[in-house]
Amino acid sequence: MSLYINESCFFSAAQAYTIFLLPSMEMSKRLLAAKFLIFSASVILASALVFAQGSDGAGISARARSIHESAIVVDTHADTPQRFLDENFDIGSTDPKDNGHISLDKARAGNLGAEFFSIWVDPETNQGHFARHTLDLIDSVYEQAARHPDRMMMAFSVEDIGRAHKQKKLAALMGIEGGHSIENDIHLLRDFYRLGVRYMTLSWSNTNEWADSSGDIDDPKIQHHNGLTDFGKQVVLEMNRLGMIVDISHVADKTFWDTIATTQAPVIASHSSARALTNAPRNMTDDMLRAVAKNGGVVDVNFYSGFVDEDYRKASEPIGKQAAEAVKTYLEKQKAEGKAVTYIEVDRIEREWAAKIPRPPLKSLIDHIDHIAKVAGVDHVGLGSDFDGVAGATPQGIDSAADLPKITQALLDRGYSAGDIHKILGGNVLRVFKEVERVSHEMQSQKVSSNK
Ligand SMILES: [Zn+2]
Repeated sequence: MSLYINESCFFSAAQAYTIFLLPSMEMSKRLLAAKFLIFSASVILASALVFAQGSDGAGISARARSIHESAIVVDTHADTPQRFLDENFDIGSTDPKDNGHISLDKARAGNLGAEFFSIWVDPETNQGHFARHTLDLIDSVYEQAARHPDRMMMAFSVEDIGRAHKQKKLAALMGIEGGHSIENDIHLLRDFYRLGVRYMTLSWSNTNEWADSSGDIDDPKIQHHNGLTDFGKQVVLEMNRLGMIVDISHVADKTFWDTIATTQAPVIASHSSARALTNAPRNMTDDMLRAVAKNGGVVDVNFYSGFVDEDYRKASEPIGKQAAEAVKTYLEKQKAEGKAVTYIEVDRIEREWAAKIPRPPLKSLIDHIDHIAKVAGVDHVGLGSDFDGVAGATPQGIDSAADLPKITQALLDRGYSAGDIHKILGGNVLRVFKEVERVSHEMQSQKVSSNK
């Protein structure tokens, strides 16, 4: 916008100069000179524009860079806590060989302002102690923030995210991925809120005792509930009351519709893409996208290649099965030898298999953002990378949080305005979070008055 304003001002000045400051020339010649000067000026200006837009090494124009740098960028899903806990990975790592998606340097390079770190408890390897492992992962995020107080801070509210942004620190938030973490105990849900957890995905790929998952909905061996049970609905309402965002990524379709009918606050899909473009059962149908729009919520696009590119998804089906077999064999072998299995070991096996499929272009990811913006509206789409949780299987060009400006460039290239890009990069999530906080205060004050 500002570039065009400068452009027209420049033309007017050139015209005025030739017409009024060269009075000795005939009018026709003066006009000709004016035209020539305007032509030269436009050539110079065009070259300047090419220079300005011609990349900073990463193919990001000056305008895209400025839009990106002036945004509060919020990503709603990264699995890095598995690395904190299992590998003792330090988020301050500067190791150039580290192929992880998130570090403080990578976050700084991509102007990532706030990350919702995923507290994901593998239901297979943590049977019998889901809550304890949840606590260990929560601790691992706090420990990272304690190690790097100058560059990172724990955040629990929209206000905290704003404060971190002003101090140029990464705001670290936490979301529990999978309702099994609360072990069917509403008291534990409240305790996790008190420890700072600000969203919970109702189920992971496993159906728990109160919410069906898309991950096993076709498995007849699993006991399903036709969506949410009564306790599940109680969990949703208690999350509304607490101010914990309800996350419907991973859930079965019926669970989604039950949640939409139950919740009193906007919901998020912390890391889900569009099913109309990529037919994964975990992606959202257009009807669901419209329902989230009506609910006032936001769908944060998952970057995983298998969720944003149909060719990749099809190719990954047989390979995914082989990878799952390889992981299972490894788990059984370790178990037989009495050894624990770490996330990074499983990740290594999955990466080897994922590397057999060519990476899709960045365009596939942008298509999903664009589709959701068109179907649900630009106020209802955001970023939910699933960084450090997808065995490195991201589209070309997206190798870490440092590459986030490429998304801004691609959206700009498609004609998105700076304001809309800011919404997609984080504004929409912040709006939802604020509304969740407001509904929570309202519900709590009603509770107090009804108790009187
Ligand atoms: Zn997930």
